[in-house]
Amino acid sequence: MWTGGNTIGTPYWWEEAAPETTSDPLPDRCDVLVIGAGYTGLSAAIAAHDAGARVAVVEAGIPGEGASSRNGGMFGAHPRLGWDKLAQHFGARTADALFAEAAPALNWAKDFIKAEGIECDFQTTGRIQLAWAQSHFDAQRRLANAVQSKSTVNASLVEKSGLRQEIETDRYAGGLLFPDHGALHPAKYHRGMMQAARRRDIPVVSHARVQALARDKGRFDIRTAKGTVRADKVVLATNGYTTRPFRWHARRVFPLPSYLIATETLPSNTLGHLAPGRRMMVETRARHSYFRLSPDGTRILFGGRASMRDLPLDKAARRLRATMVEIWPSLRDARLSHAWMGYTGYSFAHMPHVGEQDGLCFAMGFSGSGTVMAPYLGAKAAYLAVGDARAKTAYADTHLPRHMLHLFDRPHFLKPADIWYRFWVDRMENWQARRGSGGQTR
Ligand SMILES: Cc1cc2nc3c(=O)[nH]c(=O)nc-3n(C[C@H](O)[C@H](O)[C@H](O)COP(=O)(O)OP(=O)(O)OC[C@H]3O[C@@H](n4cnc5c(N)ncnc54)[C@H](O)[C@@H]3O)c2cc1C
Repeated sequence: MWTGGNTIGTPYWWEEAAPETTSDPLPDRCDVLVIGAGYTGLSAAIAAHDAGARVAVVEAGIPGEGASSRNGGMFGAHPRLGWDKLAQHFGARTADALFAEAAPALNWAKDFIKAEGIECDFQTTGRIQLAWAQSHFDAQRRLANAVQSKSTVNASLVEKSGLRQEIETDRYAGGLLFPDHGALHPAKYHRGMMQAARRRDIPVVSHARVQALARDKGRFDIRTAKGTVRADKVVLATNGYTTRPFRWHARRVFPLPSYLIATETLPSNTLGHLAPGRRMMVETRARHSYFRLSPDGTRILFGGRASMRDLPLDKAARRLRATMVEIWPSLRDARLSHAWMGYTGYSFAHMPHVGEQDGLCFAMGFSGSGTVMAPYLGAKAAYLAVGDARAKTAYADTHLPRHMLHLFDRPHFLKPADIWYRFWVDRMENWQARRGSGGQTR
């Protein structure tokens, strides 16, 4: 299954852009302290700095080591839920506003890359969401109508008969194409944000995990592994890596693992057959498979929910590979060069939120979709902290609900949830897919 020089545990992306530790000292004092140096934290730091604040960033490990250098590099922003679900969770006005903000958020992130000169192999490839069953395609039809009537996002349905132009498989019942979405190299994207912070002389302090916060006369004393810093405002940007002392947040945003594999280099004609559309591809089924070509167009990168809890990488890679071969049987002999994982920060409403709690401003809960939304909402959280009118966003009107199964800081509920999904949801979705294809075995 593996190539000779395989790398289990190290992201494929780190071959070209591994996160680097910094030697910046911890300042004694700043106006805004940002906790976490992923996309959210760095964007927040840049926005607060450009709004006139003295800023510092503290990071528990090496900047970028979290999800921001590990993800699939699929770039897009459309509400993760249909309009009806959003209206049910947050009310019709907020649902409308979330749809309306999708195109501006995407454009903001594209402009950010351009304005900061970030070299991250960005391409507007389009992203197609592939319907696993006919009922999923029916839901996509409703979503397409809502997107077209309530936002300026371009989206078009692809009937089953047109899918062969996108992907060489008969597994899907149709698809929903977002032609303006794109692809990037996530670790280079993060590196570009670090360079943007460097140009502004923003200290980014590695190995400075925040251990405790105390509030004194409206100011914060933040104790880190490298000493204490005093700040007027704090922006929390820890998403799927949130732990104590941030209990309020950790009970609302939980770490859901996502796993990825990279194949060995494949012949270009094979790849041209498998994915002629060269799009970013995501599935509608709960297994959340997502796949793409590498930026140099030489391999398949295939990700998904191999498990909802931590699994040995070798085992997770076998599961992902089996799913990949179900979709593309011609890859049955393809070997793997890399397997890795990271934690997405999931919220129980499947949507992120920007807000303030106990004086801490935050943006989190990106629920697996953060290449656009994390830097976009990171900047919003920074504007909230410094009292800038640009803080306005519909994501301040969402919320992070609690769930009765997640009573403690650690997500113990993921173990039974994993069993539920593997033995019930996955089977039910396969049954729905078979029923939609006239009972044939897929
Ligand atoms: C495998 C995988 C695939 C994904 N694929 C995609 C995709 O294709 N497209 C997409 O849009 N999104 C994708 N995502 C989601 C996306 O990567 C995230 O939403 C985004 O990176 C979140 O950025 P962040 O800065 O909020 O969090 P992170 O990048 O996770 O950074 C949080 C940081 O906080 C630090 N931290 C935590 N606690 C403390 C503390 N106490 N003190 C100091 N620092 C602390 C952590 O060390 C970490 O570096 C994927 C995620 C994963 C894991």
